[in-house]
Amino acid sequence: MDASHPDFLTGDAVGIQKAAKLLHAGQCVAAPTETVYGLAGNAFNEHAVRSIFAIKSRPYIDPLIVHIHAIEQLTELTRLDDEQLSAVKLLAAEFWPGPLTMVLPKTKAVSGLVTANRDSVAIRQPAHPVMRELLRTSGLFLAAPSANPFGYISPTTAQHVRESLGIRCPHILDGGPCENGVESTIIDLRDPRAPVLLRPGPIGLEQLKDVLHLSVKRPAPASDASLAPGMLERHYSPRTKLSLHTAGSLPATHTGEAKLLLQRPPNADSQHTFWLSESGNLNEVAQNLFSLLRALDADEAIQHIHCEMPPAGPGIADAIRDRLNRASKR
Ligand code: AMP
Ligand code: MG
Repeated sequence: MDASHPDFLTGDAVGIQKAAKLLHAGQCVAAPTETVYGLAGNAFNEHAVRSIFAIKSRPYIDPLIVHIHAIEQLTELTRLDDEQLSAVKLLAAEFWPGPLTMVLPKTKAVSGLVTANRDSVAIRQPAHPVMRELLRTSGLFLAAPSANPFGYISPTTAQHVRESLGIRCPHILDGGPCENGVESTIIDLRDPRAPVLLRPGPIGLEQLKDVLHLSVKRPAPASDASLAPGMLERHYSPRTKLSLHTAGSLPATHTGEAKLLLQRPPNADSQHTFWLSESGNLNEVAQNLFSLLRALDADEAIQHIHCEMPPAGPGIADAIRDRLNRASKR
């Protein structure tokens, strides 16, 4: 391996075996999930968990999501009463494996380093076949926040990981571009009668309500922002200035400015007009969002991005609005 470049491991049995070995040795490996690329480490190895925080320059107050292969593994990580367990079962039956993270009371086995000293732990069973196979063959619980420097745009390809973490992340398991493109939905189930949506994501609020037969609240604005650092006011941010506009009301742009639309316009007027989807399909918009923001951020000819916001709506619309709002904060 060339010591000046990260080592790309192929997302096949050989690459996954190598990655599993590195994880057992306490090293971190960037790995694909259906949401974004994660920087994975053995959640039960203190050295590995500290490395995750160090590589990302992530503050220890920001707890990590722990990824599991099978729902039966929950007993090792969480202690649930009957009501919590039935809520988990309902949601898992519908959405796991998939882009849903559940916050639950933790067992002593889970280190406070992983949970920012909270007595709860965030758990997800991811669906990406490469990540699933990595979890299965390693037999480990993998803590895996997004594989990017803290606060910057999340990575949706192996190349993004390499560009933004460089040699700080020496091993990258390549599983192609991520399908969802935005981070998982996070639901707090500590009180299963009053679940709270901590972060909107690919699974919408309405879907959660339908399965739980309960109202699911958004956190009160005054609540502790460190509860879910995805909730920090500024996050997912390009260095380039980003302004948001309601759909169809973008201003005329000048030299050095780019337009980022939800859908291909009938006649693209300049080389600085970009679109997140051909047809305006919001799942495609989410899939391409971080990738296009990164590309525009890297373009030195662009000093200001004007982006169209989707209207509030069901499904993934809230997650796109949430990420754009935070990305635009200075
Ligand atoms: P990411 O950095 O995209 O992996 O996001 C992980 C998110 O899960 C962060 O925003 C965390 O705050 C949130 N999270 C992890 N553990 C907990 C927990 N115990 N309670 C609340 N939120 C959590
Ligand atoms: Mg992140």
